Amino acid sequence: MTGILPLVPAGQPGLLTVPPGGEDLAPYLAAGGYAPLPAPGALLGRVAATELRGRGGAGFPAAVKLRAVRDAPGRPVVVANGEEGEPGSVKDRWLLRHRPHLVLDGVRLAAAMTDAARGCVYVSDVRAEQAVRRALAERPADLRVDVVRTEHSYVAGEETAVVRRIDGGPALPRAKPPRPYENGVGGAPTLVANVETLARIAVLHSHPDAAAAIAGTYLVTLSGTAGEPALVEAPAGTYLKTLADLHGHGRAEAVLLGGLFGGLHGAGWTDLRLDHDGLAAAGGALGCGALHFLRPEDCPVAVAADAAGYLAAQSARQCGVCVSGTGALAGTLAAVARGEAADDDIAKLLRWSGQLPGRGACGLLDAAARIAATLLAHFPDRVQDHRDTSCPACGDAAPHDGRRFAVAVP
Ligand code: SF4
Repeated sequence: MTGILPLVPAGQPGLLTVPPGGEDLAPYLAAGGYAPLPAPGALLGRVAATELRGRGGAGFPAAVKLRAVRDAPGRPVVVANGEEGEPGSVKDRWLLRHRPHLVLDGVRLAAAMTDAARGCVYVSDVRAEQAVRRALAERPADLRVDVVRTEHSYVAGEETAVVRRIDGGPALPRAKPPRPYENGVGGAPTLVANVETLARIAVLHSHPDAAAAIAGTYLVTLSGTAGEPALVEAPAGTYLKTLADLHGHGRAEAVLLGGLFGGLHGAGWTDLRLDHDGLAAAGGALGCGALHFLRPEDCPVAVAADAAGYLAAQSARQCGVCVSGTGALAGTLAAVARGEAADDDIAKLLRWSGQLPGRGACGLLDAAARIAATLLAHFPDRVQDHRDTSCPACGDAAPHDGRRFAVAVP
């Protein structure tokens, strides 16, 4: 892991800046942390004015979510969701391990904005849990905050899975509605907020002068078969190509976006920027901000088969359409990779990738469908090549277990 790229404008506070000696209470207080609570509505107004978007993947406006929880009947609960299920993303675990006070400060502020009676940190990473418990023991105890451990999985961080696990059930998604803001932990309106979102709220509070820049900056995990993985902080609008060039992926010819959720992008990817709306318009998604770069010698068919195989293995097997759909997508992509696709398999992949999105209780099925759709859209020639010749990169990639996307937390 090459660490941190200081793309935040000079003089602005960044989330990746750890005080000398680590983030213990004293340096955190000295840096302006745990500042007195703002007047009701003042910070929420600032969150709205900066148009801060959630960093868990969907990019939903943070102020809209906060207001929905605040205005729902009952006393709310705030959950810091630190279970990052997307392979290739490390930002949330990094924040919990190295900046636990910043996240807990965000929980405190979100509780103040929503009038919540309690908070909770939801996490699977052992070192993150230890850091949070240490910080809880020394912070000003003005809000009850519990820690709930879960098993790591692709779906454990989905918001309804979070609520079910905190309530003592399995960390599996359930059908929506109701959403957690209506009926969450213990039946209370619940804010399930990504830890980066909460950390940004804490910095917005302590550095109001830099509010717009703080809300417009993203933590991004970069990985690929070349170069060391890196966790960087970069302003919205940064070209993905710039990030690739700066971190040893200068030969990249394609990128897998969002962890696995944003699909594969080939020709034209160098015009893509760090921007939710722009990436959505290009048929992708920024998701949690994990970018996996492919070199010319990497095979996009192998990457797609690997991603779909991983997703099929991670299916919570609750929705029939997900069990059969993700399995069919993964099995067919694996057959293409082996050079054993039937004549109508490409047509089937096309049809399924159009029909399946939106039909599961969570985004896993959508991710698998987007992987297939973008592979066919961006790499038709590479797919066709697998009909005629055997591909060594695909042979090396089997079994398709997603191991290539794993990144160690720095
Ligand atoms: S879509 Fe798949 S992973 Fe998501 S809840 Fe349904 S069965 Fe589970």
